[in-house]
Amino acid sequence: TTDLLSVKNLVTAFRTSDGELSAVRGVSFSVKKGETLCIVGESGCGKSITSLSVMGLLPSNGYIKEGMIDFEGRDLAKLSQEKLRSVRGKDISMIFQEPMTALNPVLTIGYQLREPLMLHHQLSKSKAHKEGIELLKQVGIPYPEKRMKQYPHELSGGMRQRVMIAISLACHPRLLIADEPTTALDVTIQAQILDLIQDLKDKLGMGVIMVTHDMGVVAEVANRVMVMYAGEKVEEGTVESIFNSPQHPYTRGLLNSVPNIDEPDFELEAIPGSLPNLNEDISGCRFHPRCPFATERCAVEKPREFEVGKDHKVKCWLQEVEEDANSRPSIVHS
Ligand code: SF4
Ligand code: MG
Repeated sequence: TTDLLSVKNLVTAFRTSDGELSAVRGVSFSVKKGETLCIVGESGCGKSITSLSVMGLLPSNGYIKEGMIDFEGRDLAKLSQEKLRSVRGKDISMIFQEPMTALNPVLTIGYQLREPLMLHHQLSKSKAHKEGIELLKQVGIPYPEKRMKQYPHELSGGMRQRVMIAISLACHPRLLIADEPTTALDVTIQAQILDLIQDLKDKLGMGVIMVTHDMGVVAEVANRVMVMYAGEKVEEGTVESIFNSPQHPYTRGLLNSVPNIDEPDFELEAIPGSLPNLNEDISGCRFHPRCPFATERCAVEKPREFEVGKDHKVKCWLQEVEEDANSRPSIVHS
């Protein structure tokens, strides 16, 4: 199948009083129909900015400096704000972590569901109302007729997130971008919402980009995974290759820091150090100040991308040693 979305060499920058900051530094990836790509990394790694770039929803001081965002043959990076608005209404939808901020507190659920249907599908108010009820049923909300008359604050967090998903489906998107959609929810509700997104993806054949810092979420929903660090993609592969044979030291650190269920506050072997500031100039590999395997070369020379298997790529000099040894990468995650 062909790509629904293909992002090439995306560079996203911000104008600030300290000068220009680069939040995304030349990232490429693609999403196919019916596929879930997880973008994973610590907060501040550029994963949210990557998805906001695709949606054309960057803050006013942010801009796409370079690159191409090909969505079904159109380059979104070159569209006017007006055209982007219509893409967001019809083709691509986004759900966020806290639905309370995305929902309008003074309008009923019914109003907020009917509005996009009337606007983008030219439905009459009564047809939009019926369709709104159908959407609420589709996302598993009981008593949908009653919910239509309620305000966001009358619903639980889990129900609000379901409403947000229903609203995002109202435009029949072909691509759904979900940025930490379950982070604010408790574990049981989180699992339900992830299941719901998976079900809808399968039923509607959407492509999904899931932005998360949580490897548990990745294991649950991803077909493919892109790991970001300090504005760059450091590893990309199928969910199996990332979990069974992670190659980048950062990816292995992320997997080792999956919190222990019995002791949620305890992180196994968390990666020491913290993400650099966006404007920090780091020579060579941007991970080298935190990497236990860093060599002198890592501090001066940017690693190139190595293909380590089918659809599995990694940016790390350790792979060159492997190539020289003329063997398959031998780092096995235990
Ligand atoms: Fe570590 Fe060097 Fe690989 Fe960067 S290139 S991740 S510093 S080993
Ligand atoms: Mg974020």
